[in-house]
Amino acid sequence: MRLVFLGPPGAGKGTQAVRAAQELGIAHVSTGDMLRSAVARGTPAGKKAEPIMKAGGLVPDEVVLEMVDERLGSDAAEGFILDGYPRTLKQGEDLDRILSRRGMKLDAALELELAEEVIVPRMAGRRSCPKDGRIYHVTANPPKVPGVCDACGGPLIQRPDDREEVVRKRMEEYRAKTTPLTDWYRAKGILVRVDANGTVDQVWARVKEALSKVAKAKGGRG
Ligand code: ADP
Ligand code: AMP
Repeated sequence: MRLVFLGPPGAGKGTQAVRAAQELGIAHVSTGDMLRSAVARGTPAGKKAEPIMKAGGLVPDEVVLEMVDERLGSDAAEGFILDGYPRTLKQGEDLDRILSRRGMKLDAALELELAEEVIVPRMAGRRSCPKDGRIYHVTANPPKVPGVCDACGGPLIQRPDDREEVVRKRMEEYRAKTTPLTDWYRAKGILVRVDANGTVDQVWARVKEALSKVAKAKGGRG
């Protein structure tokens, strides 16, 4: 399966993509995670991305394209969920190009739909593990011990770009640059919309159902 997860920041893409990738046995490719890792390691791409991410802007298309292309040639070669990529029409076109160069094609773009008034508290309560990228929420999805990653025992952080003023900028970027992608995938006939309201398990049940329909349709095509 080759999938893209779309939706506003805080909709639950990362949370659901981790489960779906595990269930399907495919790679979870999060450009946000890759960029945060590049920033932490101080690579040239990380140095370029850091101030832009801090301000809630979008990192240049070429920087993320290179990262995604590399994954398509390695762990994502047999199937993937792209989480947070593409984010602009140009990135959507870039993705089609690098996929077709490898003889690959997307099976679906799954959009998690959520109203802004629900998004804001989700982002405000998000805590993440900087070491392994695990995502928690202080009330909706808390770690067993507050402030501590269940998996590695390391300290959880609040992402610097989850501060309210940066969240507002990220939402603006999403509205202006990412929503046109939804229409683009709809026109291609591969857009699948999922209601992202409710608990993590409720949304997961809907995601699973949507993915099994995609798998069936893919099987039917041969
Ligand atoms: P995205 O990848 O779309 O930015 P995340 O998966 O990081 O979103 O989720 C944002 C925050 O909301 C996290 O703190 C996560 O634990 C929490 N969250 C995810 N799904 C739900 C849900 N269905 N209900 C409540 N909180 C959720
Ligand atoms: P995310 O983890 O998906 O919320 O992304 C965090 C930040 O990383 C975004 O606000 C952007 O600054 C940057 N980023 C992640 N993915 C992309 C992308 N596909 N294009 C441009 N910038 C990105």
